[in-house]
Amino acid sequence: MKNIILFGPPGSGKGTQSAKLAEAFELLHISTGDIFRNELKNETPLGLEAKKFIEKGMLVPDEIVIGMLSDYLDKMLEKKPAGFIFDGFPRTIAQAEALDTLMKEKGMNIDLVLALEVDEPELVRRIKGRAETSGRVDDMDEDTIRKRIEVYRNETEPVAGYYEKQGKLYRVTGRGGIEHIFEELSGAIRSL
Ligand code: ADP
Repeated sequence: MKNIILFGPPGSGKGTQSAKLAEAFELLHISTGDIFRNELKNETPLGLEAKKFIEKGMLVPDEIVIGMLSDYLDKMLEKKPAGFIFDGFPRTIAQAEALDTLMKEKGMNIDLVLALEVDEPELVRRIKGRAETSGRVDDMDEDTIRKRIEVYRNETEPVAGYYEKQGKLYRVTGRGGIEHIFEELSGAIRSL
């Protein structure tokens, strides 16, 4: 199995690249953001709870995310995939530790963490552009977008260090064309 994390700030292109990589390498794409949006669309208790945090640009509490991810992973394992690509998870050190434990319990491990790097003005520009079509509550106003980037700097960026210590982190510039970035990410996966 190949298990990969696509890491990076909001608007760095994780969703776009994860979908492409999942297809190219036959991996199952797990996006916690997409799972929450789907739950919200179906107005489930989990979706409605998550919404309170998402619309403010805050992280959904770890217990909720970890429990959801664990259940989801069990369901996905029934499909016997060649591996997973995690998008938007883990977003805190506690989530990274929980993921390591979960993977170990299931006889798996994380092979590679691809980190997309994009500067803040470009992130804000991209998310504002996306807001016109995404309909996402958290893309609508600049204050919420900046809040998400601040939360990323404070709570999520340390996760890169966690994987760097394990020798699993590979940094890639998230500037440039989608295909060019895709080639770079694919090269790193191929060399595993
Ligand atoms: P983006 O990376 O563009 O912010 P996502 O779709 O990954 O978009 O996430 C949207 C929102 O969903 C986040 O701002 C957060 O509120 C919530 N969320 C998604 N994944 C997690 C997670 N692993 N931990 C906590 N909250 C999460």
